[in-house]
Amino acid sequence: MKNILDLDLQELKQWMKENGEKEFRAKQVIDWIYKEVWSFSEMSNLSKTTIEKLEKSFYIGIPEIIETYSSKREDTRKHLFLLKDGNVIESVVMKYKHGNSICVSTQIGCKMGCKFCASTIGGIVRNLTSGEILGQIIKAQSELKERISNVVLMGSGEPLDNFENVLKFICNVNSEHGLNIGQRHITLSTCGIVPKIKMLADLNLQITLAISLHAPNDEIRRQTMPIANAYTIKELLEACEYYIGKTNRRITFEYALVKGFNDTKENAEELSRILKGMLCHVNLIPINEINESTLKKSNMEEINKFKDILIKNGIETTIRREMGLDINAACGQLRRSYLEKKE
Ligand code: SF4
Repeated sequence: MKNILDLDLQELKQWMKENGEKEFRAKQVIDWIYKEVWSFSEMSNLSKTTIEKLEKSFYIGIPEIIETYSSKREDTRKHLFLLKDGNVIESVVMKYKHGNSICVSTQIGCKMGCKFCASTIGGIVRNLTSGEILGQIIKAQSELKERISNVVLMGSGEPLDNFENVLKFICNVNSEHGLNIGQRHITLSTCGIVPKIKMLADLNLQITLAISLHAPNDEIRRQTMPIANAYTIKELLEACEYYIGKTNRRITFEYALVKGFNDTKENAEELSRILKGMLCHVNLIPINEINESTLKKSNMEEINKFKDILIKNGIETTIRREMGLDINAACGQLRRSYLEKKE
């Protein structure tokens, strides 16, 4: 049986046709799902035979929430979802003044090995399908009882390592027949797989590309990000220029500040030099410390100094608001503690 959320409208229309049903039934089924009717038998405008055919071929893959943690400020909610095959994944919902945002996972685990990240500790289990990525939003929105208007692909997993499924997800979440979330409200964050960035650029989407840079030079980057052994910062920035050239979209560089490691005045000057003149924005992140790592967070004074240097050098810079620290909101932490408890 297939997860019906893995199909787009066109594919479901095709299925209807091949199974002796009218094509417009596809739209009816999709409408029911977004009205939170998650059982074919409750779709009251479908005939008994249509329902039987659907039940034989599909299930509606809305994941079950097995744990939810809310931050004390009630602005962040982290869900642990159970998938049909027994795997667990996590998403974080963040409430901002400008709307609700969700950070979704794209893989179960991750193989990229970034030292500051809990998602990669057990390696990768498998890719998520487009429907499994979408299901996180549908379920979280239903639990929140408010519209989610922004999506960030920055949870567990490297989105560009699951290229086809992530692309299909972007099309489906963007579709007017689905959640209708505009491409400009979707951010894809990557550790920097250079050839895939170029492939994405060629598609000329209007999504925001965020690059986990975290270092001003290769020597520092290689110490926490194995991907830096495959591609130099020079190659990465060339791919970013290519992306900007194709899409005319500003790139966001994520830079997690680690005490005494990448947060000095010299690091800020070097970062300014390599990004000078690029259509970009730097997002400074006070790292979420994880138990499995000795990396420590820079203090606020150091972070502000770093920001001032970038701004003085003409680089647009913000500091990411810290959310959900009291609920293990960093990527992969909740799934890990769940798996440890189970063991
Ligand atoms: S930061 Fe992203 S790419 Fe790196 S290990 Fe974690 S999930 Fe994977």
